[in-house]
Amino acid sequence: MVKLKDPSLLETRAYVNGKWIGGGTTFTVNDPASGNEVAKVADLDVAATRAAIEAAYAAKPAWAALTGKERSIYLRKWFDLMIENADDLAAILTAEMGKPLAEAKGEILYGASFIEWFAEEAKRIYGDVIPGHQRDKRIVVLKQPVGVVGSITPWNFPNAMIARKVAPALAVGCTFVGRPSELTPLSALAMAVLAERAGIPAGVMNIIPGTDAAGMGAELCANPKVAKITFTGSTRVGKILMKQGADTVKKISLELGGNAPFIVFNDADLDAAVEGALIAKFRNNGQTCVCANRIYVQSGVYEAFAEKLAAKVGALKLGNGFDAGVTTGPLINEAALTKVEDHIADATGNGAQIATGGHRSNLGRTFFEPTILTGVTQAMKVAREETFGPLAPLVKFEDEAEAIAMANDTEFGLAGYFYSRDLARVWRVAEAMETGIVGVNTGIISTEVAPFGGIKQSGQGREGSKYGTDDFVEIKYMCLGGI
Ligand code: ADP
Repeated sequence: MVKLKDPSLLETRAYVNGKWIGGGTTFTVNDPASGNEVAKVADLDVAATRAAIEAAYAAKPAWAALTGKERSIYLRKWFDLMIENADDLAAILTAEMGKPLAEAKGEILYGASFIEWFAEEAKRIYGDVIPGHQRDKRIVVLKQPVGVVGSITPWNFPNAMIARKVAPALAVGCTFVGRPSELTPLSALAMAVLAERAGIPAGVMNIIPGTDAAGMGAELCANPKVAKITFTGSTRVGKILMKQGADTVKKISLELGGNAPFIVFNDADLDAAVEGALIAKFRNNGQTCVCANRIYVQSGVYEAFAEKLAAKVGALKLGNGFDAGVTTGPLINEAALTKVEDHIADATGNGAQIATGGHRSNLGRTFFEPTILTGVTQAMKVAREETFGPLAPLVKFEDEAEAIAMANDTEFGLAGYFYSRDLARVWRVAEAMETGIVGVNTGIISTEVAPFGGIKQSGQGREGSKYGTDDFVEIKYMCLGGI
């Protein structure tokens, strides 16, 4: 059992229309580190999804009619409660997802930062005045909430992925129906407990856990009372949702898979590049969509980089996320391990070498040794598909043009990273990189103050920053005549 200062945060019922719904069928949430049961959670179906949509639809007019400042105050209160309860929220997160407690706490603060940010933005959803095109005309542009927002989120950031969606939605006057991953519903429900305590009115923020992902997703996409879908997850599911939303012409934001390149040029600060690669690759045990997936290293520094990175990776401490000093937790499930193994087997079968790691850990279950492969080529699976695990493949390159060509040789375009100290090269490469996010001389790019999102098949729409409300508002233009 998770030990909490406030045990009431471990809520297992659904939150719909300001009420806690339980008593029906349940599903089990397991701790990926131990395999032990953490809780049994209400398993909502399609009919319950429909009821949540109705509640959000009914709540919308009153919520949208509040002033920006009034909504801001609710969000600010919610943010304060998340900060006050950060330790408990982190413990719930580690229990259901496995990441080390310190990293879980980091995620809670990161998630909360979006609520704080959009609480501030709620007051600044400005329109525009356009000079009339005729002498007796004036033109005004209004921004209005799109309506009910349906949200579907993954397990790798059970708190922050929801926070990035619900905060801008509520800030502009939308209401929200969120379906968390069936692997990690407890963090979402704990957020709902605090939303209720913050006084956010019934029906404005609903959380519907359930195992029927396809059925609930189809309902959110097809129901005409939902105006917008916002999704973070795989490109495969993103495409399904886009197709399902077509009949009702849903607005849709998609944060999908990545295949992030990480380029180290000969002129890089090598130690900084090693540090950046360590974070960009091994944060969350490689289970983030902006994780460096392919590491391209110029020939002049290839050996030295590989050696330094191997030393750092060798020092990572694998274990249960609740244990002190652990830097790297378990993978989420058996399928995740199989994928890492498959990528390693494909690479070594085609000539790559294991520099460190390469096997399941002797801790058993879903623990896998942080791994570095050298002698990797662009043709190998590990360079073409997102691994989503602790595997760093090092590809050697000779010149800038070759590095850019390889970096862009993918259907994905979320994040890209490179290290160089040549100013002209920094501009050239940053402009050439086909990604929505570019990290230059840094491996950390996520913050609530910047627009996060991808191009190509990594998705559409942006989360965070002043742009983060754009996807939740409609632009209405009012033409005033006879003046
Ligand atoms: P991941 O590989 O990160 O688990 P998925 O795209 O499979 O990515 O899952 C992301 C979210 O989408 C999860 O909440 C999952 O339950 C949900 N999901 C999976 N399949 C569907 C579907 N057909 N329709 C709607 N949601 C789905």
